Amino acid sequence: MNLKKKRYIWGSIAILAGIIGIIVLYVSVTASPLHFVSQRNIEINSVVDFSSFVKDVKDGNLEDVTIDSSAVNVKKIGEYNVIYKYHDKEYSLKVKVVDTTPPTFDVQSKSVALHQTIAPEQLVKNVKDSSQTQVTFAKKYTFDELGEKEVEIIVTDEYDNQTTQKTKVKVVEDKKAPEIIVGNASVIVGNDIDLNALASVKDDFDPKPTLKIEKNELDIQKKGNYKVKYIAEDVSGNRSEKEITIQVIDKTGEDEKVVYLTFDDGPSRYTPEVLDILERYHCKAAFFITGMNSSYRKYISTAHNQGHTIGLHTYSHSYSKVYSSTEAYFQDLEKVGQLAKDYIGFVPKYIRFPGGSSNLVSKKYTPGIMTKLSKMVEDKGYIYYDWNAENGDGYAKMSQSEMLKRATSSSEKKIMILMHDANGKQNTVDILPKVIEHYQKKGYTFKAIDDSAIVPHQHINN
Ligand SMILES: [Zn+2]
Repeated sequence: MNLKKKRYIWGSIAILAGIIGIIVLYVSVTASPLHFVSQRNIEINSVVDFSSFVKDVKDGNLEDVTIDSSAVNVKKIGEYNVIYKYHDKEYSLKVKVVDTTPPTFDVQSKSVALHQTIAPEQLVKNVKDSSQTQVTFAKKYTFDELGEKEVEIIVTDEYDNQTTQKTKVKVVEDKKAPEIIVGNASVIVGNDIDLNALASVKDDFDPKPTLKIEKNELDIQKKGNYKVKYIAEDVSGNRSEKEITIQVIDKTGEDEKVVYLTFDDGPSRYTPEVLDILERYHCKAAFFITGMNSSYRKYISTAHNQGHTIGLHTYSHSYSKVYSSTEAYFQDLEKVGQLAKDYIGFVPKYIRFPGGSSNLVSKKYTPGIMTKLSKMVEDKGYIYYDWNAENGDGYAKMSQSEMLKRATSSSEKKIMILMHDANGKQNTVDILPKVIEHYQKKGYTFKAIDDSAIVPHQHINN
């Protein structure tokens, strides 16, 4: 080997060694001193110690590492970056929030009608999971034999975690016909009436029984009383019928003398007595109900079936609640609307504000709320009534003779009298026959509120 060749080889080795040296130096300067564990998944909604992702710190202490995990949302599935700071340098670590926890739930046993089906949702309760869940049967079940049948229910969350449980379904014969809740109604000649909206149907098994309406006779263009028949049938073929009378009425004549008795705050223990008196004198009236006296609710149906008007007066009648905001008012009103529907089959559109539309109490809770509410209720299709006469039973310490004097002091052709159907209002019941007799002698008739009634509005003061 000549000298030239030797020099060339040695030179190459030296250059190579130099390059390797530089690489080693570079790696030793820039390589991360933080070593992370390989499992970087976080279970959704769990409490995480982000320092536990650091396996070790080369030539250092974990205490010198500061961690910024503010980008991580443990309540949401996804990938996030956690920043670890060590000796003025930042190291970013990707972590994943995952959901591997299956849902939990309780089963309940239910009955199903022979040959019918039941929704699996009806057999579970208290489903808990951090994501949306779906309830299914483990397979398709049929219920064609009487007796108990074991079924398997699967609850699956959005990330396919599943829990399966067994429960029992009792297969029974369905012999009970659906119940039709509907009462008599009236409509002004030529106006539309939604017969479907007047009725609701309940059944012990069938969530949606069919409802047919026979209204062959009904002629909305002609004054008179018409029979309308409702026929309901459940999936098991049980049928029930109910016949009502639709009164097609004239708009009340201008010269006709009418008293509209209105009872607020009921039903109460006095309701049956009031209804008896009204029946004895062939009077109709209106009841603006609340939800407060649950033990007397059956009288809502009784009053309705006897031809009286059921109106709404809010569920709680609590000023601080219903006048705290317009949302709170409507929530409360809708609640009493649903209550009414349970007893008469539909949500009444006739309402009365607690304290009337002129009340000043509402100002204490929300200035200007009555101005807003009086418009909003009308936009939603309700009609609100104040009154143009009263018996004074809202005031404390008024004698019966004073009350009677007040109640009979009006000489308007159309009188709407405010009264109360509430516990403690014995005087109201006691003088009621005399109030009725007074006006009947003068040629007044007592009517329920319908679309032909006057709509007295007082001045809005708030
Ligand atoms: Zn009231």
